[in-house]
Amino acid sequence: MNEQSKNYGFVYKVVQYAAWPVLLTFSISLTALGFVYDHPMIAFNLSYVILAISLLLLERAMPFEPKWQQKDGQLLADIGHTLVSKGTVQAILVFGGVIGLSEIVKPAVDTQGGFWPADWIMPLQVLLGLIIAEFGLYWAHRMAHEWKPLWPYHSIHHSVTRLWVVNTGRFHFIDSLISIVLGSGLLLIAGSPLEVIQWVSAVTAFIGILTHCNVDMKFGPLSYLFNTPELHRWHHSKDLREGDKNYCENIMIWDHVFRSYYNADYRPPSDIGIKEYMPERFREQLVLPFRWKKVQAGYNSKKL
Ligand SMILES: [Zn+2]
Ligand SMILES: [Zn+2]
Repeated sequence: MNEQSKNYGFVYKVVQYAAWPVLLTFSISLTALGFVYDHPMIAFNLSYVILAISLLLLERAMPFEPKWQQKDGQLLADIGHTLVSKGTVQAILVFGGVIGLSEIVKPAVDTQGGFWPADWIMPLQVLLGLIIAEFGLYWAHRMAHEWKPLWPYHSIHHSVTRLWVVNTGRFHFIDSLISIVLGSGLLLIAGSPLEVIQWVSAVTAFIGILTHCNVDMKFGPLSYLFNTPELHRWHHSKDLREGDKNYCENIMIWDHVFRSYYNADYRPPSDIGIKEYMPERFREQLVLPFRWKKVQAGYNSKKL
């Protein structure tokens, strides 16, 4: 090994270990600055764009799975689902639901003193918010896998054959709606202030976009606490002994509690996806869950 490749090897190793914590800390810090200067939404969006661009560049420079760099013909469908699910669902909930509901719930909580520890410092309140919301997110996700009527909606997300930044938000909007209602709903019941809900949403968005990235990162003990790409790659395995695991979205607490945590020393499978039929076009995917049995039966009879 010559001097130059030795140096390259060292830098590569540093980036492998530093990328995940540095990118997450940077995004959270920039968002925190936004809260301090009263422009949290601008700061959040800016952080998210910087994070997405950094990950796209890293995916080119140091891919985890070279096979996942190949096109899968799903770019438009991925963007379509992201826009429909995140756009519509969040717009309805954030502007109509969360704010509307929090205004109804909050005065009731305030007058009774509430049980939310509003005197805690904000980072601790956000941590508490993450643990509470995670309980709702965990069960929404686990039910989507283990309760048959919900799987057709979640299958849209698992039908991807490659993991990369762009398909992070590929969720059927009903699937997203259930997660958001359960996650944010628990926070509202707990009397959480809007700022905590905003923080939990921001952290979920940052950790979420990191989980799908096809970057050759290393995590060490971080994967025990947080939902890292390493853990989420198992979650996309076709082998359900690996796939029906790691349901948490941010911190792995409930996977440890309910014994669905999974991480192993061998390499996760590069051949990912679902066993059922998934149409290629976005609009067909959007209506698929509503006519799931018929479509799958038709597909199975053609296969025979
Ligand atoms: Zn899943
Ligand atoms: Zn995923």
